[in-house]
Amino acid sequence: MMLTTQSNTTTCPFCALLCDDLQIQVQDNHINTITNGCYKAASGFTQTVDIQPRVKGQIVSQIEAIEIAVDLLSKARLPLYAGLGTDVAGIRAVLQLAKQTGGVVDHKDGNKQSARTLAIQNSGYLTTTLTEVRNRADFMLWIGDDIPAIFPRLWQRCVEREATLFANPAKQPTIVHFGSQSPTEANQSFNLNLVQLPEVINGLRALLAGQVLQTTQIAGIPLEEYQSLIAKMKAAQYGVIVWQTASLSMEQTDLTIHALYQLAKDLNQTTRFSALPLGGNEGGVSALQVTTWQTGFPLRIGFKQDRVHYDSWQFDTQRLLKQQEVDTLLWLSSFDTPQLPKDAKGLPTILLANTYPENLTYEPDVFIPIGTPGIHHTGQLFRVDGVVALPLQHLINQSTTTAESILVTLTEKILMKCS
Ligand code: SF4
Repeated sequence: MMLTTQSNTTTCPFCALLCDDLQIQVQDNHINTITNGCYKAASGFTQTVDIQPRVKGQIVSQIEAIEIAVDLLSKARLPLYAGLGTDVAGIRAVLQLAKQTGGVVDHKDGNKQSARTLAIQNSGYLTTTLTEVRNRADFMLWIGDDIPAIFPRLWQRCVEREATLFANPAKQPTIVHFGSQSPTEANQSFNLNLVQLPEVINGLRALLAGQVLQTTQIAGIPLEEYQSLIAKMKAAQYGVIVWQTASLSMEQTDLTIHALYQLAKDLNQTTRFSALPLGGNEGGVSALQVTTWQTGFPLRIGFKQDRVHYDSWQFDTQRLLKQQEVDTLLWLSSFDTPQLPKDAKGLPTILLANTYPENLTYEPDVFIPIGTPGIHHTGQLFRVDGVVALPLQHLINQSTTTAESILVTLTEKILMKCS
């Protein structure tokens, strides 16, 4: 007899929008129908998982794999806990393990996360939520290349207004796009190489302040076009500057993000404007939130003699690996196909992931399979705007355990070994 269950309010964990309106049918422990999800959800919910632990590529028992991982972490002088593709409980557990072993903690998108944190530390920020955007925004400046590929349902979930909180909802927002791949939804596009964004944003700020510029163009676009954009921004009742942080790859990204926050602040002198940075996929928003409330510091951090140290430069995964300052790597990846950092080749490596891809950069010393929160077990993730943590469902049974459970076991065994 076939056993079929249907969930109409499933939360999707495969990007930080965390759409919570997916309808998923599970038949005989297989997900076979997904309604409302995008292509990323379709591939995430149906990906094959690997449930066999490995040591140097050879299948072993879970007990053996854990013992080898304990041995590697016990010997490490400075272990690095990175990737951090896990849920709230997984992050809490990795912080405990890092504290126990005197390790460093960083997310795989630590560069972009840190740039945003530095900008906020520098000048604060005016931000908004997806709900506010959906209900109130009448003008949006979208900045980024390929936003629809990274956040596929942003338009559908935040801009298309079928129902809102108000009897008389705001009109459909005007969309202006900065970047090289203009979404079809844009009403106006500024075809820009985003490396030039700093001069464009600072030029806009200067024009908004009424300054006379000694040029007729910025980034190849005539000043009149920017003047016309400023007029539209000033006329908006509720404007939002949305940027895809992954697209900002200029030098000192934090200064560009600072300028974007300042532009929103400047516009608030005459109307209402907010910022909405897009980023934090693969548990990035949760990693930042949990680390902040558990330790009092944002990522990137290191534990030394029971004290927490925050330093976005010193504890940068790429830098630590390149300079060979860490001697063991534990990489966590529960959502997407894991990609180990190439500079970690040769380093004792423990991979906790939902799958063991054939094309890994190199063979990790230990692979321990973990489930995907929202498919194989319940959990919680923070949404891109950081204001809500959404519950994730347990949809199918698989012989995998949670990242939290493996990390707690490692911590306990290391504690026993040291006592
Ligand atoms: S947009 Fe993101 S959260 Fe929504 S269904 Fe697609 S991958 Fe999932």
